[in-house]
Amino acid sequence: MELTHERFIAWLRLYGERLQEKRLELSELDQAIGDGDHGINMARGLLEVVRKLDASTPADIGATCQLVAMSLLAKVGGASGPLYSTAFLKMAQVWKGKKRLLPAELAQGFREATEGMKMRGKAQLGDKTMIDVWEPVTRQMEQQANCSWAEVRRQAEDALSRTKELEAKRGRASYLGARSVGHLDPGAASSYHLFDALCQVMEE
Ligand code: ADP
Ligand code: MG
Ligand code: MG
Repeated sequence: MELTHERFIAWLRLYGERLQEKRLELSELDQAIGDGDHGINMARGLLEVVRKLDASTPADIGATCQLVAMSLLAKVGGASGPLYSTAFLKMAQVWKGKKRLLPAELAQGFREATEGMKMRGKAQLGDKTMIDVWEPVTRQMEQQANCSWAEVRRQAEDALSRTKELEAKRGRASYLGARSVGHLDPGAASSYHLFDALCQVMEE
């Protein structure tokens, strides 16, 4: 099924609502292995995204991604702000001028976003970061020609839960070394919610 620009915006709005709901939960995850601000950071960023979308509708999906990237860069801060911003900048490039995306195009944008974040943060799969959700979800979407949203959701859930047993190699959590094991990664959790919100919008 195609992702229209309208649905794309509905996805971002839903993600904004989700982050408001999960704000404290995400910050609690970050209290365990970081500085306790991840939920607050992300909720603030998405509030700005929604405010901008309320003010005017960008011309296409690429322009909307550009708006998201700029908002997150300005408002989120920390490690996650520049990383999510990089992801949306990459998607803005791939989806420039697009008003709808086929599943293969969606996967292509997520691939560029994932590679961009890996470069920017120097993180690899298994380092207990948001990459541990982006990489498997992207791979799943690349592999299935006819996108099953139930499968994407399951992949995102499994990917998030696997971060619990990983030792952090990047970001603040890496300062804890082996003591980071046994906790979910907060950035992986906010990424899970991003993809889960996408699945929800596509299933509606
Ligand atoms: P900060 O750690 O600066 O307070 P946040 O709490 O907002 O920033 O975000 C922390 C999350 O950012 C981590 O849970 C992790 O998923 C992600 N992260 C941190 N460093 C990196 C990195 N180098 N590469 C990828 N993701 C990272
Ligand atoms: Mg933090
Ligand atoms: Mg911080």
